[in-house]
This record gives sequence, C-alpha cells and structure tokens, in this order.
Amino acid sequence: MIKPQKNVSLKTYNTLGIDVQAAFFTVIKDLQDLHYARDFCRLQACSWLLIGGGSNLVLTQNFAGLVMVMAMSKLDWTSHTDGLEVCAESGCEWDELVAASVKRGASGLENLSLIPGQVGAAPIQNIGAYGVEVKQCLRWVDVFDFNTGACFKLTAEACELGYRDSIFKRHPHWVVTRVNFQLGHHALTKDNPAQLGYGIIAQTIESMTGEPAVGATVQQIRDAVIHIRQSKLPDPKHIPNVGSFFKNPIVSAKQTAKIQQQWPDLVAYKLDDGRFKLAAGWLIDQLGWRGYSQDGVGVHQLQALVLVATGTAVTGDEVLALAQRIQADVFATFDVVLEIEPRLFNSRGEFWLS
Ligand code: FAD
Ligand code: NAP
Repeated sequence: MIKPQKNVSLKTYNTLGIDVQAAFFTVIKDLQDLHYARDFCRLQACSWLLIGGGSNLVLTQNFAGLVMVMAMSKLDWTSHTDGLEVCAESGCEWDELVAASVKRGASGLENLSLIPGQVGAAPIQNIGAYGVEVKQCLRWVDVFDFNTGACFKLTAEACELGYRDSIFKRHPHWVVTRVNFQLGHHALTKDNPAQLGYGIIAQTIESMTGEPAVGATVQQIRDAVIHIRQSKLPDPKHIPNVGSFFKNPIVSAKQTAKIQQQWPDLVAYKLDDGRFKLAAGWLIDQLGWRGYSQDGVGVHQLQALVLVATGTAVTGDEVLALAQRIQADVFATFDVVLEIEPRLFNSRGEFWLS
C-alpha cells in the first residue's frame, strides 16, 4: 500500500537540482505499488510522473499530480552455455549493473559505464556512448500500462530502439518495470570483439595498462571509459547537469558539404544511409558558448553539449532559456536545428518546445 506524501521538494530527485514540489509523492517498491498509484491518480483525477535517477529531465514548475520514484531493485543472473543473462528491475542503478556484469567478465555493457540513472530508463532513450547502444544487449522489457493496469512483455525489436529514441517516447503511459539483457560469457573473443574504435578509448587503455588495446579485458575498457568520462564530464553531484542537452543533428550530405565550405573542420560522421551525424558540441563550441555562465546557468567548460546549473536557485525555465538561445545561434549560423535531449515537464506533464 502506498501513502503519498504531500508537497514534497524534488530538488534531490533531479540532477539539475531544480527545486520544485510534487503535490503528491511516493516511492514504488513493487508492482503492487504501481497498481495502488494508478488507483490513487484515478481517485484524485490527477496526472503522474515517474522519475528514475532524474538525470534526463528538466522540471519547470511544481508538479500538480503524483510523482513516483522507482525503487524496484531485484536482480537475477542466469548463466547459459552461450552467455550470461541478467534480469534487472527498473530501480537498479545502471552503473551498478554495468559494474556487476564487468566483474563477472561478461561483455556488452562496458562501454556504457558511468552513465547516471536507472536500468528502467535505459531503453527509454536507448542510452548510448562510445559506439555502443543498449539496443545491442537488450532482449526484452516488462511493461506496466498506467492507463489500463495491464502488464506485458516487449521484445527488444518491438521497443523500436533508435538514436536516443524508443517506442516509450510515443507511449509515455508505459512504465518499464524489468529489463532483460543478454551478455557475452567471458572476456572478449574474436566473435565478440570489443568496441575500441571510438574516440580515444584504445589510446586510453594503452596509456593506462602499458599494453596494446587489442585483447583488452572488459574491466580495462570500463576503467578507460570511466577515466575519459571523469576527465571531461561534470559529475552531477558537484555540478548539476543532465548530460548532453542536445542530440547530435543528422543532416543530408548536401547540407554537410555546404557547411564544410565555410567550416572545413566540421566534425561529421557518415551514416549508413549517406546522411551525416554532426557533433552538436562542436557546433556550439564554434559559436563561443563553451564556458559561458550567467546567473548560475551556463555551458560546461570542457564539453559545450552540457548545460550546467551552478546557481543556488536555478529554475528549469532559466535552463531552457539558455538552451533556446543556443538553438537560435546554431540555427542562424549553420542552418541546423538542435533538438533538446532531456524530457521537459511542467505542472501537468510533459511538454515540448516548438
Ligand atoms: P530519468 O531522468 O529519471 O527519466 C528520464 C525519462 O524517462 C522521464 O521521462 C521518465 O519519466 C522516464 N522514465 C524513467 N524511468 C522509467 C521507467 N522505468 N519506465 C518508463 N519511463 C521511465 N545518456 C546517454 O544515452 N548516454 C550517455 O553517455 C549519458 N551520459 C550522461 C552523463 C551525465 C553526467 C548525465 C547527467 C546524464 C547522461 N545521460 C546519458 C543521460 C541520462 O543519464 C540517461 O538518459 C539515463 O538513462 C536517464 O536515467 P534516469 O533514471 O535518470 O531517468
Ligand atoms: P566525444 O567522444 O568527444 O565525441 C564527440 C561527438 O562525436 C559525439 O557526439 C559522438 O557522437 C561523435 N563521435 C566521436 N567519435 C565517433 C566515432 N568514431 N563514430 C561516430 N561518432 C563519433 O563525445 P563526449 O562528449 O566525450 O561523449 C562520449 C560518449 O558519451 C559519446 O558517445 C556521447 O554520446 C556519450 N555521452 C552522452 C551523454 C548524454 O547525455 N546523452 C552525455 C555524455 C556523454 P555520439 O554522441 O553519437 O556517440
């Protein structure tokens, strides 16, 4: 049985540290709690918002309904001849799951080390880093439909996982309750190679171990990823942020060539369909935003894609105002639209900026 508290501050439940209140607040410890929460919302005729680690959302107003914080955290490991299967409830910490899989020598998640947040949120935007997406290991998810109270399973394929995207963005009333991953059994083999070709991972492994990166263990890859991330990304515990504030824009080859005429150093990666993914951080950096700060809101000194809220009483609207100024500047200069990555919530629910 849940007993929602009234008027609870959400400051410690979002990594931007925005101090808004939830009219009602509860922790979800099991599936039954979700049923109770659903009954509560129907009785109160109020809206609801599920928060995991709060590392990918911007809260702009007091929330007028029930805020639920996911705390279901059972974890089951099963060993098969062809690999290791792990079934994790949504409230498990993502990086604890990665650390535990690496400790078992299982491959698949190591490049996704140190991403904040919970396991249940991982499929929502198909988290990705250093050339790997969660899509590559995901087998299925269990879902609770908050509209109907029904529970069902979705295969990875049915999750429609794409670049920072999934079916869950189109079905926000679906709560992910459990996630199942298929991992490689042992350290990396020829059939199960490491993803080392991205950025400075190989170089970092070599300088950390003094050995060639080829044949690196999953632990060595995890250590390298952690080292790189800690050297350039702000830790939300000390510098409030939600990671990349914008997605990398995907544009046509023609537009890429046009931008390159004026900006020959443009960082662009060719995709299989012939289009190009531009590094949004690079675009923002060219316009001089990196290190910008005013009234406690700014752009991180080492990574222009990350907006930071260092002031004591920053509001979500102030963060979004800076994001919009950057979007306008990038559009005016490069004719490129930057899409906001974190999810935005006002008093009634999710909203999108036009
Ligand atoms: P929340 O912020 O709590 O929620 C995000 C959205 O998902 C909300 O709409 C929420 O309602 C919904 N949601 C949460 N849990 C569930 C659930 N169980 N069922 C249904 N909906 C749910 N992201 C990357 O992809 N790659 C990175 O490398 C990366 N690095 C980051 C680095 C930093 C320093 C930070 C602060 C963020 C980074 N992120 C990255 C973004 C973020 O950590 C991920 O998107 C993460 O998966 C969000 O998890 P969360 O539990 O904090 O989600
Ligand atoms: P980075 O390594 O400096 O790379 C800059 C950009 O170039 C990234 O946007 C990345 O795209 C792209 N890139 C680099 N090497 C690439 C390659 N070999 N092939 C294709 N694209 C390549 O980026 P960073 O800021 O330090 O982040 C490192 C990784 O962590 C990235 O994958 C990034 O997405 C992830 N990350 C994500 C968040 C978030 O909140 N979403 C926050 C921090 C870090 P991709 O972003 O598509 O990989």
